[in-house]
Amino acid sequence: HAGGSLNFIEQIVEDDLATGKNGGRIHTRFPPEPNGYLHVGHAKSICLNFGLADKYGGQTNLRFDDTNPVTEDTEYVDSIKNDVRWLGFEWENEFYASDYFDQIYQFAETLIQKGLAYVDDSTAEEIAAQKGTPTEPGRPSQYRDRPVDENLDLFRRMKAGEYPDGAKVLRAKVDMASPNMQLRDPIIYRIKHAHHHRTGDTWCIYPMYDFAHGQSDAIEHITHSLCTLEFEVHRPLYEWFIDKLEIFPSRQIEFARLNLTYTVMSKRKLKLLVEEGHVTGWDDPRMPTIAGIRRRGYTPASLREFADRIGIAKRDNLIDVGLLEFCLREELNKTTHRVMAVLDEKPLKLVITNYEVGREEIMSIENNPEDPSAGERNVPFSREVYIERDDFLENPPKKFFRLFPGGMVRLKGAYIIKCDEVVKDNAGEIIELRCSYIPESRSGSDTSGINVKGTIHWVSVPHAVEAEVRLYDRLFSVENPAADERDFKDLLNPNSLEVVRAFVEPALVDAARSGAQTNFQFMRKGYFILDQDSTAERPVFNRTVTLKDAWAK
Ligand code: ATP
Ligand code: MG
Ligand code: MG
Repeated sequence: HAGGSLNFIEQIVEDDLATGKNGGRIHTRFPPEPNGYLHVGHAKSICLNFGLADKYGGQTNLRFDDTNPVTEDTEYVDSIKNDVRWLGFEWENEFYASDYFDQIYQFAETLIQKGLAYVDDSTAEEIAAQKGTPTEPGRPSQYRDRPVDENLDLFRRMKAGEYPDGAKVLRAKVDMASPNMQLRDPIIYRIKHAHHHRTGDTWCIYPMYDFAHGQSDAIEHITHSLCTLEFEVHRPLYEWFIDKLEIFPSRQIEFARLNLTYTVMSKRKLKLLVEEGHVTGWDDPRMPTIAGIRRRGYTPASLREFADRIGIAKRDNLIDVGLLEFCLREELNKTTHRVMAVLDEKPLKLVITNYEVGREEIMSIENNPEDPSAGERNVPFSREVYIERDDFLENPPKKFFRLFPGGMVRLKGAYIIKCDEVVKDNAGEIIELRCSYIPESRSGSDTSGINVKGTIHWVSVPHAVEAEVRLYDRLFSVENPAADERDFKDLLNPNSLEVVRAFVEPALVDAARSGAQTNFQFMRKGYFILDQDSTAERPVFNRTVTLKDAWAK
């Protein structure tokens, strides 16, 4: 490998491989808590953990960090597995931290027996007060020096369910004077009489994150435990437990979490948006969840490419969502068929007066100029076609190359036409354009000698399929909602969804419904995907992304 192109985690891994640490073994894990759907930030972590193992011939576990019975659910477990697979990764083992509850409980007894943990009857407020502030040492709890036997007895009775929630906790006896607040006798077990989605009512005490995560890493012999920066201050505690319990020494390495502009990346906040109906669900195409952007039309490859490009940093930063869209456009430009759709509540009808009534031609139009192997498709043409209302101007400015009275354009893949007459209703609204076509100008066999500057898309009126099109925009109207003082729900973009009627080519609906193609480029309009809300009568399309960044300055 070229040394310069390694990120700092790859560098650590290569150093470990070079020194033969862990017998040259690389084993990572992706450890989601099943309390929500995965988002793009998780995708970064997934690509990092699985990517590292792939690159160095290692393995990756999928471990559900399910130690908080109140917030977790199997619906989330299923969605997480689905999303990881969709991203293109397969795990070595599927594990659950809850499967280690017995072992973790034994670890706790070991600490008690070593005089390194004690049962504390203090309230949560008292414990917080004892911890003090970072600039002055904390005060020891009055229970700190309980004898080992008493601690063991009380802890067993906690486990047996003798006490109500909050009556007692188990704390590690580390250092109440440490400048690192995490080391000031952290709580490692709490009482919670709650039903767990996997262990049912077996337990009424549950380990805290700090006494479950590293322990699970050790049990699975994880070599490199990658987590986000906020856990950096937890690392000394992570290592203290390894040392005192004499368990497998996994190495915790922190990296910057992904933050994206114009969205939030916290499951708690995303969950609120779902619960309060600001979006239609976890898979609403405006959501930064993997389920949401999948439905929006994002591809796994574009997400992996994005993760690659943003790389791994040691400082938190905010990534422009435009980069994610760029990765997507790059791929869709290469892979999608160009099709025609007129996105207009009131499309403009164009009648070709010198084209016989009832005549019909099949035009053969190339699917993708970027990819000749994508072939051509049949597009029906007839006397009446719809065009976009804004492709016609009655009083055009200079250099307007689309249609205007007396002007000529090419109908994509068909003929050159001339606008002869504008028909208006009583209110003065244009309802129809009467045009004539140049018979010798058929695309592919044009002998007319006429040069026109503009080409516009169209859909034959009798063949058009009416569709609903959902135009999505940013979910939030400020660049960094997470850093804003205002309530994040007040920062939602009121125009994040616009629903319009469209008329589309029949072939595209068939291709989408049969699954022959999933993503499309609607010529001059953007990239679109068929939505699951489609019915037999009415297809629904989501706009994945516009052709160009409409927000670029
Ligand atoms: P959230 O704050 O959104 O609830 P979390 O960290 O609590 O996220 P977990 O389910 O615990 O969610 O995360 C699983 C893994 O994904 C962890 O290793 C975590 O560090 C990583 N992860 C979560 N959010 C991001 C992010 N924005 N960028 C990179 N990695 C992330
Ligand atoms: Mg977490
Ligand atoms: Mg969380």
